[in-house]
Amino acid sequence: MSQAEQRIGMLGGTFDPVHLGHLRSAVELHEALSLDRLHMIPAQQPPLRGRPQVSAQQRFELLAAGIGDTPGLVADARELRREGPSYSVDTLAELRAEVGDQARLVMAIGFDAFLRLTQWHRPERLFELAHLVVIARPGYNDPLPASLMELVEHRRVDSVETLMQRPFGGYLSLELPSLMAISATYIRECLEAGKSVRYLLPDPVERAIEQGGLYRRRE
Ligand code: ATP
Repeated sequence: MSQAEQRIGMLGGTFDPVHLGHLRSAVELHEALSLDRLHMIPAQQPPLRGRPQVSAQQRFELLAAGIGDTPGLVADARELRREGPSYSVDTLAELRAEVGDQARLVMAIGFDAFLRLTQWHRPERLFELAHLVVIARPGYNDPLPASLMELVEHRRVDSVETLMQRPFGGYLSLELPSLMAISATYIRECLEAGKSVRYLLPDPVERAIEQGGLYRRRE
């Protein structure tokens, strides 16, 4: 494969905090798509959520601790350096400028995030920059709303091979082998309630949360 056709993925999120659902999905996605690297990019100020309790810098540090030396996964702080809301379309435009117009660029999102895609900033534009790969997530089987169908249906492909024939513009729904019903919401609830989060996130992340006193209920 030429350098120009390298395969680059992006998995954005709040990572509040990063957990094994994110990380195992990232490893399996890296393998399923034969990516050269997958950028995991914490949002500075997620446009569709309230303000997270833990700072963006702390969320990034937890992410970097969680990734450790995992081959092919990159903790990418670029959205932290940008002012204002984090729009994926801006991040993809930056990545596209870096990797050139022939690289296969993939934005991966979980099915829950996918259901809100039409509310994102310039969703049509995403497909001029990247492919969209949607990862199944346990507990989310809702049918696609009509507006979302309209956005993605004509872009649908059924295999990684077909997706990777072009640099951008396709939509693939992917069921990765290890479906994990772990959410950051549940982890924050456990931590607030003083319950164990063992085996939901990597040990270094658990330790950093404990040492920093993060996600504790404020008295
Ligand atoms: P929260 O519970 O706070 O909403 P979350 O666990 O959904 O958080 P996000 O940071 O919002 O985590 O997720 C980042 C991306 O990873 C999203 O596209 C989301 O759909 C996906 N994702 C999160 N958890 C999983 C999981 N267990 N399996 C597969 N994908 C996941």
